[in-house]
Amino acid sequence: MIQKILIANRGEIALRIVRACRELGIKTLAVYSEADVQSLHVQLADEAICIGGPRSSDSYLRTDRIISAAEIADVDAIHPGYGFLSENAKFAEQCESCNIKFIGPKSKTISMMGDKAVAKSTVLKAGVPTVPGSDGPVASETEAVKIARKIGYPVIIKAVAGGGGRGMRIAHNDVSFGKEYHSARNEAEKAFGNGDVYIEKYIANPRHIEFQILADSHGKTLHLGERDCSVQRRHQKLVEESPSPFLTPDLRKKMGKAAIRAATAAGYENAGTIEFLVDSKGKFYFIEMNTRIQVEHPVTEEVTGVDLIKEQIRIANGEKLDFDQSDIKFKRHAIECRINAEDPARNFIPSPGTIGLYYAPGGHGVRVDSHAYSGYQIPTHYDSMIGKLICYGRDRKTALERSYRALSEYIIRGIKTTIPLHKAIMSDPVFIEGKATTGYMEEFMNRMP
Ligand code: ADP
Repeated sequence: MIQKILIANRGEIALRIVRACRELGIKTLAVYSEADVQSLHVQLADEAICIGGPRSSDSYLRTDRIISAAEIADVDAIHPGYGFLSENAKFAEQCESCNIKFIGPKSKTISMMGDKAVAKSTVLKAGVPTVPGSDGPVASETEAVKIARKIGYPVIIKAVAGGGGRGMRIAHNDVSFGKEYHSARNEAEKAFGNGDVYIEKYIANPRHIEFQILADSHGKTLHLGERDCSVQRRHQKLVEESPSPFLTPDLRKKMGKAAIRAATAAGYENAGTIEFLVDSKGKFYFIEMNTRIQVEHPVTEEVTGVDLIKEQIRIANGEKLDFDQSDIKFKRHAIECRINAEDPARNFIPSPGTIGLYYAPGGHGVRVDSHAYSGYQIPTHYDSMIGKLICYGRDRKTALERSYRALSEYIIRGIKTTIPLHKAIMSDPVFIEGKATTGYMEEFMNRMP
């Protein structure tokens, strides 16, 4: 039985995990960097250990120090959250060899699905449609051009180790291909230490629709419906919602089944996400699997009533999922806005600093997952997300109106945030009509005065 968990993360997700553990009666150990001494998760966890300097490479990515902290504090399991070490197969393997449960899938599943080209071929064999493209990574520019011509422009060049929208470039013809190919490779090499890329057909204005998976260690794999994450800037999600205004019950059923087939083909265990692109005709294509809990998981929680973090811990504990696919009902509509410390009026430049006054919205159907508070100093070393606002209600109209109302109540003084942008999106006719595709944000920003 898991009795104490080390949380190998920071910010809102660390706090989210502390909260789940409290309710399960599990003790928590926070590890933190020198920049996060004042962080809420450090104050709310049962124990805390400083593991190094402000830079992630000196703290949150130091597997040796994290494992030592786990041993000193005698924890049974490590929850990696998202980002940092959450999809690091070597770290999961180290945990396994130290007899500490890594709350996530097996290390070999992480490495298999972490290589996007391998992931594609694995699910394709299981009959899940993938975006047409190269068969694995391309060996040279000459081979890559040949493939691009064969599938037809435009194409997208993607890093096999990619994540966070990095290492991705679009090419419209032979002339631009060479340049984009080399920049994708360089960016991938810098970001992931692996410059391998593969080629895919570039789907025009698709929707990004992903399915939440839960799989226990006894062979039961379920899906908890979809999240529509089409509102993106530079391939990074800004707004997520469930159910998708685009999916028909029939398409949801087909995609849900395909998602379960993909997870099963990967031998998946714990919580994970199968990501698809869907074109305007409703044709869907697998793009990748995320082998961790995602930022946008609360959307699914508010629609289904399932606490995904608790389920992750129960699964890691060897317990069986105590519900079936037919028990999962999509009872509500939920929308999440990512609140980033960025200035949307100035090309989203980061806006770190000290929050003067912080007042979070509340009331019926409003959930705020945030580590921010009045007087909180946002460190410059990490990503700019300072919170998530999740609003839900009986239908999409209610969730939209509630989101706008809650955003109007939110007070964060002293820094710039994406709140004004979210208010504009929530009151934009194109978004309200449910017509946003991945091309939406660019078109919306061009329309803005
Ligand atoms: P990452 O792992 O970096 O997030 P993904 O493969 O999940 O990369 O893709 C991120 C986003 O990039 C997608 O949601 C979509 O907007 C865009 N994208 C990826 N592949 C394609 C494609 N073949 N055609 C069109 N857009 C794509």
